[in-house]
Order: sequence, then C-alpha cells, then structure tokens
Amino acid sequence: MTKVVHTEGESAKFARLPSVDRVMACDAGRIVSARFGQSAAADAIRAQISISRANFASGEDFHPPDTETVARAALATLEALDAPSQRRVFNLTGTVLHTNLGRATLSEEAIAAVVESMRHPTNLEFNLASAARGERDDHVRGLVRELTGAEDACLVNNNASAVLLALNTLARGREAIVSRGELIEIGGAFRLPDIMQRAGAKLREVGTTNRTHIRDFEAAIGPRTGAILKAHASNYAILGFTAEAPPAEIAKIARSAGTPFIDDLGSGTLVDLSRWGLRRERTVQDALRDGADLVTFSGDKLLGGPQAGFIVGRADLVRACAKNHLKRALRLDKLRLAALEATLKLYRNPDKLAERLPALRYFSRTRDEISAQANRFLPFWSRALGAGWTGSVIDCSSQIGSGALPMESLPGAALAASPDSRRKGRALDSLSRRLRELPVPVIGRIHEDALQLDLRCLDDEDTFVAMLDQMTKA
Ligand SMILES: *Cc1c(COP(=O)(O)O)cnc(C)c1O
Repeated sequence: MTKVVHTEGESAKFARLPSVDRVMACDAGRIVSARFGQSAAADAIRAQISISRANFASGEDFHPPDTETVARAALATLEALDAPSQRRVFNLTGTVLHTNLGRATLSEEAIAAVVESMRHPTNLEFNLASAARGERDDHVRGLVRELTGAEDACLVNNNASAVLLALNTLARGREAIVSRGELIEIGGAFRLPDIMQRAGAKLREVGTTNRTHIRDFEAAIGPRTGAILKAHASNYAILGFTAEAPPAEIAKIARSAGTPFIDDLGSGTLVDLSRWGLRRERTVQDALRDGADLVTFSGDKLLGGPQAGFIVGRADLVRACAKNHLKRALRLDKLRLAALEATLKLYRNPDKLAERLPALRYFSRTRDEISAQANRFLPFWSRALGAGWTGSVIDCSSQIGSGALPMESLPGAALAASPDSRRKGRALDSLSRRLRELPVPVIGRIHEDALQLDLRCLDDEDTFVAMLDQMTKA
C-alpha cells in the first residue's frame, strides 16, 4: 500500500465538509426535507457526508463538496429508495400469459371496476335489498352459473387454492385417485402431489405414465375413496403410445360408485377458442357436460381476468367447499371480485370479446399485422442498437403461456438483433440488460444467437418508441 502524505491537517480538511444543518438549509436541502421529511432527509445527508469523509480517509483526491452537491446526492438516494419495486414492463417475450410478468392484463372495464371498489366502501358482504349480511361470492355466482351452466360457484385466491379447497372438502383423510400421467408440476410452485398432501388427501395413483384406462380407475375405487381427480396436463404432452381415460367415462363410473369427480382444467376457458383461430380447448361447459361434479380453473389464464380460482359444479359440493373453514383463508378481496365481475360480463357478448379482453386480443393477432407493426419500428430499433448490430424483422412463434394449450404456437413476428461480434453470448446478455434497465423495462428473449422482441403484446407504441429513443441517446 502506498502511504498517503497529507499536505494539510486531517481535522482542518474534515472541517471543510459541510455540516448536516448547512446542507438542510440550502435550496436543494429544503427540497429533500419537503419531499421526504426532516428525519429521512437528515439521515440521507449525514450518510452522504460520511461517504465524503470516507473518501478522504482512504486517501482519494479530496475536494470538499458544496452543500447543494451533498443535498442533490441525498435526493437521488432517497428517490432511488422510493421507486416502486413492482413496475410496469413491456412483455415482448412471446409468451402472452407470462406467470413471471403477472399473466393476464385486465380489460378497461375491469380496471375501472377495481378503481371504483378501491376508492369507496362497497356492498361486498351486504345485501342492499334486505340490509342483511350478504356473501361476497354472490357478486359473481349468478354470472358464473349463467356462463357455464354450473349449478353453483365458489371463488378463491387462485386455482391452486381451488384444488386445495376441493380436495380438502371432499377427500380429507381419504384417497384421491389420480392418473399417473397427470401428476403434474406447474412452474415449480404447483405440484399436485404436494397440494394433495396439504389437503389431507392420500394420493392413489392409477395407470402408467403414458397409459391410463378406465378399468384402472374402476379397480382403484373402494370404501376409502374420497374423490377422483383429473388434472389438465398443462405444460407438457405425452406423445406416442398413449391412452387417456375419457372424462365422460370417468364421470360415469364415479357416479355409479357415488364418488365425486373433480376436473382441474387449469387454464379454463368459457368460449370456443377456434373462433379466434386457436385450437379448440375443452371449455368449462364441456367439462361439466362430460359429467364432472366439480370443475376448477384459474381467473388470470385464458379467462383474461384477475388472479382467482373457480370451483364450479354440483350445488351440494360447492356449498360444502364454501362452508369449509379454509375458504375464509382463501377468499377473494373486493378488488378482485370487482375485476372478476367486470371480466365475466364481457363474456355475455362474445362478438366484442377480442376487442375488450387484452389476452384474447393478443392471441388473435395475425402474423401480417404484427409483422407490419415490426417493420414500422425497424428504423427506430436499428438506430437504438447502434454500431455492431444488425436489426431485422423475423418470423417467430409465440406461446399462450401459463400452461394453456402447451402445444399451440401462434405465428407472429419479432424485431431481432444479431451482434456482429464474435462474443455473441456476451453481447446479447449486455443488450438484454440495457433493455431491462430502461425506465419502462423491455423484456425480450434470446433465441438462436439473436435477441428477439416479439411484438404480439405491444399496445403502448408511444412509450415503446420513447424507450428506443432513450437507448439511442444513451
Ligand atoms: C395453472 C394450473 C394450476 C394452478 O393455477 P394457479 O391459478 O396458478 O394457482 C393448477 N392446475 C392446473 C392444471 C393448471 O394449469
């Protein structure tokens, strides 16, 4: 280590640092305390002065900062601390219902309903006609019955909760029969065997990974059976030599044995998606028609609403779920019930659904449309990339996400960036970091030596252009 020779006494030098009081009193200092309060301002300013003192003590070149400089540094620190942790981003990953990016974005109708319910007291559990206590789920039960044909409905926090509550209500201390090919794990957070265990149900696996027959279910039903559970193979497909017991036949044997049959649809859609060019996914109505006693599904997947879990089906079983004490721990709050009611109402007019429901609007965009949009942005994109990069518009395929239609890929288009350098991996990582560090972070994907921004979910074009401009200037 080199010894630092001071030409001036240390205490004299420290004395040239401004005091906390002087910084607080300067113009910028007053702004800091007006915005963040006296005590936070004083703490941040004191911390800033300590940094200067430490710099000096470590022998760095020492120019004592003036009061304004210290105050502005303190302001920057406090502003950074105050920035929201959860921020909007651009989801240009090509996965529309991206669990890590918050799944479905809400319709304007749902947003308005949430805002109204936040700002005012509501009749959440209050019957305005009779002045008696009401039930919160009543705000959507009728709608769900109308749209699905179910006898009754119960709403909980998410679909994992729906499965937990249904199993706990019907199969606690008993066996729940599941096909071995359906013992799924979704996104690491939802493992069917673990949920069953928490529900107090004993897992009874039947069949093999690739083939389960109706006779396997028949053989497993006995006095200890609490329920039969079918789970949608959401994020994978078993191909080749396979056999799946048809739900209608499972329902038949469940009925004759007097055992409830739960069909966990996962994503759960209320409409025939082939109308918008997607593959037809079994709907909630299909599952009920096939004879499921209870059907469970999510609110924020294909349905396009807020996070929520539905349990719909036979009135006596739904009531039993609603009366379970666990329901109290899993119930929805007024915000999400408001969003859900508004979202479900959109389903009354399927002709306008793709216009109003962002998720469906994104699914139904054609490659031509997205490609034209990408070509409009290409000059801005190339300019933002700068030297060392080739920007282009490429064909790509997007996914629905969240385990909905896992084998379906939607033909789309993306802005792509390929590095000219040899160290492509590093260049791509640093570009993707630059995009993530923008004021509205842009999240793309790296695929085949290129960074791709799939524009399927791009609505807010003005802000996107502003972000590309910002990159150009940076
Ligand atoms: C997504 C999914 C779940 C979990 O639903 P959440 O709403 O994420 O809790 C459960 N079962 C299946 C089949 C799913 O696809």
